[in-house]
Amino acid sequence: MMLSEQKDAGSKRYYITTAIDYPNAPPHIGHSLEKVAADIVARFHRLQGHDTYFSMGVDENSQHVVRAAQTNGIDPATWVDKMDEAFRLAWSRLDISYDYWIRTTQERHIRASQELFRRAQARGDIYKSIYRGWYCPNCNKFYTDEELVEGKCPDHPSLVPEWLEEENYFFALTKYSDRLLAHITEHPAFIVPAARRSEVLAMLQQGLRDFSVSRLVRPGTDAWGVPVPGDPQHIIYVWFDALTNYVTAVGFPDDEAQFARYWPADAHVIGKDITRFHCLYWPAMLLSAGLPLPRQVAVHGFITLNGQRISKTAGNSIDPLELVDEFGADAVRYSLARNLSFASDGDFSRANLIRHYNDELANDLGNLLNRVVTMIQRYRGGIIPPPGPVGALEEELQYLAEETRRRAAVALDAWEIGGALGIIWSFVRRTNQYIEQSEPWRLARQAEKKELLDTVLSSAAEALRLLAIFLAPYIPSACDRIRGQLSLEPVDVGAWVHEGRWGAGTLARVSAGPLLFPRIDVSTPPS
Ligand SMILES: [Zn+2]
Repeated sequence: MMLSEQKDAGSKRYYITTAIDYPNAPPHIGHSLEKVAADIVARFHRLQGHDTYFSMGVDENSQHVVRAAQTNGIDPATWVDKMDEAFRLAWSRLDISYDYWIRTTQERHIRASQELFRRAQARGDIYKSIYRGWYCPNCNKFYTDEELVEGKCPDHPSLVPEWLEEENYFFALTKYSDRLLAHITEHPAFIVPAARRSEVLAMLQQGLRDFSVSRLVRPGTDAWGVPVPGDPQHIIYVWFDALTNYVTAVGFPDDEAQFARYWPADAHVIGKDITRFHCLYWPAMLLSAGLPLPRQVAVHGFITLNGQRISKTAGNSIDPLELVDEFGADAVRYSLARNLSFASDGDFSRANLIRHYNDELANDLGNLLNRVVTMIQRYRGGIIPPPGPVGALEEELQYLAEETRRRAAVALDAWEIGGALGIIWSFVRRTNQYIEQSEPWRLARQAEKKELLDTVLSSAAEALRLLAIFLAPYIPSACDRIRGQLSLEPVDVGAWVHEGRWGAGTLARVSAGPLLFPRIDVSTPPS
C-alpha cells in the first residue's frame, strides 16, 4: 500500500510551500520550474483526497528590493505592490493553484517574525556581537576574504562587496549542531534527493558558525524590513524573516487552530542554492522556538535555457507570460515537467516546447481524444456503449491502467515528476496502440462484431477518463476539456482514489469539442 493511502484519505493533510522570491524583477522561466513542480505535487495530493494547503509568496524585506525600487525611481512600497501583482499574474496564468499568498510586508508576518525572534531570545539563543565581513547586498550575505573571487562576490562577479563592521544580534546556531546532525541522520527523507542531503551533512561536518540575525539601520536611510522587537534601530536579517513565512502562512502565532492543523509542513520545495538556510538555519530556529520541524525539504536543480545559465545580465530570460500567451499554460507546464528530475539540472528551450507540443500533446493525446470521440459519434450516435466481451488486449490495457496509477503515485511521492509523467505517457501511447490493434473501423463494417466494437469504444473512452485524472496535476486545463468531451465535470478532490480505477467512473456519452491541442505550424522557424 502506498504511503499516501495509509491513513483514511479524508483525515490526512498536506502542507507544501515553495521558496518566496525576491520581487526585484518580474519572474522568469527559471522561477516557473519550482512553482510548476510544487503545483503538480499539490494537485496530486488533492487528487489523493488530502486536505492540501499550498503556500507561495514574495520575499519583500530585502535591500535587494529597495535597490531595484531606487533604480526604477519608485519608492519601495509602491515597487513591491507592483511586483506583487506581476508575480501573482504570472502564477495565475500558469494555473498555479496556491491556497495562500504571502507577502513578507504583511502585518501578520511582521508579528510572526518578531515572535520567533522573541522565542529565540527567551531561549538564550540571541546575543550581541560585532560583525565584520564583506557584505554582498544582492546575496544578503556576508563573505570571508577566502570566499571572494578576485575581490568580487562569488555569485555576482560584477559586484564588489562592502566591508561592514557593526554590532549585530547573533543566533547561536552552533548550539544546535548535534541536534541537527542527529535529526538529518535519523530521518533519511528529511532532505531529498540524497546528493543534497550529503552536501548538508558535509556542511555540518565542516562546522557551523553562529549567524547574524540583524542589520543596523544606516543613518540617513529609511528602515525597510522587520524591526527587532524592542530595538528598532536593528532590522531582522532578511533570511530569518523570510524563513518565518512558512509558519506565518499557517496562522502562527495568532491562529492556533490553523497552525495545529497544518504545521509541520510536509514539504518545503526549494532550489539547490538555498539548502543551508532551509536545512540548517530554519530547523535550528524552529528548535529554538520549540516548534516541530518540517517533514521534508525537497531540493530541485536549475534549468538552463538553450544550454545557457539564465540570468538578467545574459539577457536570455524568457517571460513565462509570453509563452503562456503563445502556447497556453498546459504546454509550458508540460514542457517544464517532462524531463524534470530533482536529482539533476534540466534544460528548457522554445524549440523543445514546440516539439513536445506537436509530437506529444497534439499527436499522442489530442489525436487520441479526437479519434475516440469521433468514432463514438459516428458508430454509436455519441452514446458510449457498455463493454461487450473482454479479451486479452483489454485485460492488458486494464492491467496497465492500474500499474500506471500505482507507479505514477510512487514516482510523485519520490519527487520524480518527469518520471511519473513518462509512466502516464506510456499509457497514452498504449491506448493509441490498442486502437490500432483492435481496428474498430473494420469491426464497424461487420454487423456480427457489434459487441466487440462496443468493447473497443468503451475501453478507449475508459482509458481517456483515467488519463484525465492521472494527467490532471500536469495539464489541468486540458484534462477538464477531455472530461468535458466525455460529458464529465472537472476532476474532483480525491478522484485518484475514488475514480482512478478501471470501471470506477460512469461514462454515458461524448460531446465533441474543439481540438485539444491544435498543431503549431513550424514551417517558419522560430526566431
Ligand atoms: Zn552576491
